[in-house]
Amino acid sequence: MPANNCSVPVNLLGQSAEELRAFMQSLGEPRYRGAQIYRALYAERRFDVANMSNLPLALRERLAREAVVALPQIVRRYVSGDGTVRYVLALPAAESSGELKATKPATVETVFMPEENRQTICISTQAGCAVDCHFCLTATLGLIRNLTAGEIVGQVLIALDENRASLKPQTNIVLMGQGEPLLNYEPVMAALRILLDANGVAITPKHATLSTSGIIPGIERLGGEKVRPKLAISLNASSNEQRDKIMPINRKYPIEDLLAACARYPLRPWEHLTFEYVLLGGFNDTPEDARRAAKLLANLRAKVNLIPWNPGELPYKEPDAARIEEFRRILEEKGARAFVRYSRGQDVMAACGQLALLQSAAPPTAVSPLEQISPARFSS
Ligand code: SF4
Repeated sequence: MPANNCSVPVNLLGQSAEELRAFMQSLGEPRYRGAQIYRALYAERRFDVANMSNLPLALRERLAREAVVALPQIVRRYVSGDGTVRYVLALPAAESSGELKATKPATVETVFMPEENRQTICISTQAGCAVDCHFCLTATLGLIRNLTAGEIVGQVLIALDENRASLKPQTNIVLMGQGEPLLNYEPVMAALRILLDANGVAITPKHATLSTSGIIPGIERLGGEKVRPKLAISLNASSNEQRDKIMPINRKYPIEDLLAACARYPLRPWEHLTFEYVLLGGFNDTPEDARRAAKLLANLRAKVNLIPWNPGELPYKEPDAARIEEFRRILEEKGARAFVRYSRGQDVMAACGQLALLQSAAPPTAVSPLEQISPARFSS
């Protein structure tokens, strides 16, 4: 990181330990101060440098002038009857990100799902999405912009901090919110290296899942990473003809090529691939679809998550319960491990494919003055 000679404060959020060490060096400070900031920011969630008590007072005062922790700002929170919380987050104008010049402000969504012994946080990697899956509300936004590493990490930090009073020991993250993670590769990986670092946010790789629509070059690249989450593929069809109709990306990366890339993917001993299959009533949920899907996946170490379509704004039907069970049973009979996953938070539009900033039927929970993120947390 270059010395901060200009008046623009450096955003600490999203910086790796090495980048923070270099930043400290550029200020004439010992390099190990960077690791101390890294720990305070990501492991202890101290978002105001004034509270980084592991730093000397003089350095804290200097950082208060020269650095910020530019966290996303909560503009709405919707609380579902099942405890799921959908956050609408405003992202301040950002520096360049990936191939896009990410200079404009944007809004994304993050979903916090509490469970008995853990919490799962669903995060966005892009504002909007260019992939245009026809069952997905996010697609209707188009791509607004890529998120920076700090904006991706910031969603997890915000969700953890907001729910700190009720956190369970285990945190799962799923990269299944707005955007195609493998089309914003570098910032996503930079964020994951912080999120999955034992000295950082400390989520274990077994508890992190990246979901892709099937971007083959990204899958191949991900397989070569030293630190990586588990991989989920959004399949949603049992033939190319069918997949072409709902996922135009299939014309570029057809099923046979996608599954060949999956077969080459270097799974770790404890790992399997997950295939997501959104069941669209009357479209891809017949017994014949189940048999074809089982055949496609026959030689892969994989499980299938069947996700019944959430009734919503788009013109698809919810599959009936008997069809869902029959589909699951056929997959199992043919040797594929299959589970039915009902999306959570449907009443606040936090479910799969519903993250598109539409007004939900449920009123937002008011952000009380006490709950509001104080300006200090954005510009420390
Ligand atoms: S399902 Fe995912 S990849 Fe497809 S349009 Fe929606 S956000 Fe993009």
